[in-house]
Amino acid sequence: MTTVEANVKEVQHFIDGGYAASSDNQTFEVKNPATQEVIAVVAEATEEDVEKVCKAARLAFDSGPWRTMTVAERCAKIRRMADIILERKEEIARLEALDVGKPYSHAFTAEVPRAAHNLKFFADFVEQRGGETYPMEDAFLNYTRYEPVGVAGLITPWNAPFMLTTWKLGPALAAGNTIVIKPAEMTPLSVSLLGEIAKEAGIPDGVVNVVHGKGSVVGTAVTKNTDVDLISFTGSTATGKAIMRNGADSLKKFSFELGGKAANIVFEDADLEKAIPVSIQAAFLNSGQVCLAGSRILVQRSILDTFIEKFKAAAEALVVGDPQAEETKMGPLVSEEHFNKVKSYLDIAKEEGAQLVTGGSTPDLAAHIQNGYYLQPTVYVHDNPKARICQEEIFGPVVTIIPFDTEEEALQIANDTDYGLNGVVWTENLKRAHRISHGVRAGTIWVNCWFVRDLRAPFGGFKKSGIGREGGHHSLEFFTEAKNICIALN
Ligand code: NAD
Repeated sequence: MTTVEANVKEVQHFIDGGYAASSDNQTFEVKNPATQEVIAVVAEATEEDVEKVCKAARLAFDSGPWRTMTVAERCAKIRRMADIILERKEEIARLEALDVGKPYSHAFTAEVPRAAHNLKFFADFVEQRGGETYPMEDAFLNYTRYEPVGVAGLITPWNAPFMLTTWKLGPALAAGNTIVIKPAEMTPLSVSLLGEIAKEAGIPDGVVNVVHGKGSVVGTAVTKNTDVDLISFTGSTATGKAIMRNGADSLKKFSFELGGKAANIVFEDADLEKAIPVSIQAAFLNSGQVCLAGSRILVQRSILDTFIEKFKAAAEALVVGDPQAEETKMGPLVSEEHFNKVKSYLDIAKEEGAQLVTGGSTPDLAAHIQNGYYLQPTVYVHDNPKARICQEEIFGPVVTIIPFDTEEEALQIANDTDYGLNGVVWTENLKRAHRISHGVRAGTIWVNCWFVRDLRAPFGGFKKSGIGREGGHHSLEFFTEAKNICIALN
């Protein structure tokens, strides 16, 4: 990445160890969502460019230095990548704030360190992993090898681009695969650095490649490419379905982390001193553009008025502003198109008869960010869990409080959704915490907390929230092929 004119960066593909423009020199612009200023011109790949990048990854895999080097050597290079990321932490966090509109402080303290940890964790994990033998009889030695699958296509979204891409890159690399990354076209800046970081860490050319462009063209071409053996995708449910269709002919392996509409269930015995601030985070972190957002807040009717009063006050106290400012807790939405989509739900809420508690319009903003795609933290109350605002993933700072009376009713509402990524439960009653955790059909349940991640633990969705799991050995199973070898000893 280079700076071509004041504050405008030039972003190119990273293919076989070097930066490259598109074959037809086409580019597209990326804007700062806080100001609408153009911040980057980005190479837009043609289908032939995608062929080229996938071929580079294929050759790098087949020729062997990456997959055949010792595990210790490979993992040392991955750990070096993690160190370089930490050395460049401020720069990467600044890019993430500029491109996504997320608060710099969050990118700096949480997401970029986590990105480095994603790499280091899987390097350590693979290095310490043992094997399996089946000593059933003297005449045979029967053991299992875990081999890399081949070329891994990593297609990633715009809401946490760097952190989510490294979450796939770590296990894919540690297992010995070569990589084609297709970052989200709206936010390519931070991820575009991964190729050069890999090269600086001593990873051979062709192992980490990055190709830019629209999902419908470049994402589709990567999905259909016959040199690519698997697709690890994080993004919307609709795109997941398209990827599955497009990848069918080449019979790829798929891992899908998709959308969510989590229930955040607050029982009358909850500790509101903890539940309110954490539920605010779950609602408005990254302007609600989080797959794990607790966007349906189910509150037991006996504490409804108290909860609404406290939640409203906390939502109104959130500092909305310039993502680069230290004090900012919430920035803009990522793009004009997404801003309009989120705003359309304000009309839908009105038509559906939802009661507005707070928000629903543009916040007061400093002069330099007046053109940004900002929306106030917005809270509704609605007693119809079937309403569209209670069913559809809005992916913005818009949440709905839904009252309930009994545990059974809470579970029924929580599970009345196509999604099943995660759920949150607030109660001081241990037995109830277990009952609700078992009853909610979702891949992760947080009790009296939210977004606490142990990288060894499985992460993924039930129902239309995904296929497969990431985390610890779950990620490695996806990025490896198990091979059984049976040797006659006589
Ligand atoms: P998206 O599906 O629009 O795009 C994600 C990526 O897919 C982008 O790189 C895009 O260019 C690419 N893409 C688009 N169409 C494609 C196609 N036909 N073939 C191949 N690739 C294609 O999603 P988004 O708007 O970037 O991200 C928001 C969504 O991601 C939300 O639904 C959110 O819940 C989900 N998400 C899920 C998780 C999770 O872990 N489950 C994490 C973050 C975001």
